[in-house]
Amino acid sequence: MFAEDCSMFAEILRSLVRIRQVGLFEIIILICCFPFPHAIKAQFAAKEKNKKTMSGEDETAASEAAAEEMARSITYITGSQLLPLIRRPNIAIIDVRDDERSYDGHIAGSLHYASDTFMDKLPNLVEATKGKDTLVFHCALSQVRGPKCARRFAEYVADAKDLGVKDIVVLERGFNGWESSGRPVCRCNNIPCKGGESKP
Ligand SMILES: [Zn+2]
Repeated sequence: MFAEDCSMFAEILRSLVRIRQVGLFEIIILICCFPFPHAIKAQFAAKEKNKKTMSGEDETAASEAAAEEMARSITYITGSQLLPLIRRPNIAIIDVRDDERSYDGHIAGSLHYASDTFMDKLPNLVEATKGKDTLVFHCALSQVRGPKCARRFAEYVADAKDLGVKDIVVLERGFNGWESSGRPVCRCNNIPCKGGESKP
């Protein structure tokens, strides 16, 4: 959990550096104010679980375990595995970055469902990915937002049983890894991206 917080922190810092100059002073302030939400949540959950186990509510613990199991079942795909697949009609790439998409480019043909409004737009995403059997989620690094949104989507489709089984995967190392390995990046402003204007 601490590692998750650290990567979240690193992502925030990265975004800040990208937007403007961030000095040492700002970084110190950020470190002091960073709430470590995952670590706190994990601590809280552990306490709650203890309480529940002691009062004999094993059923809740079992469903928590099932949710954890589903979260673990999300698998990763590497950029080199994904590259030959991106033009296939049965695959959808879902970019859950926030503002970065508009100035960093994107994978050609990818859909944009920003992480900050992801839950509200879940039904639209389900509609947009009808007929696709593989969904590839990514953010900048695919460490926090990408896997989180993939899990939320998995939970959502698991609840609505008539949506058909989808293969839900996360792009390893995210968009930044994709780009730094020299894979094609589209810089069009089309919404949605038509997937045409890629360049190496
Ligand atoms: Zn594009």
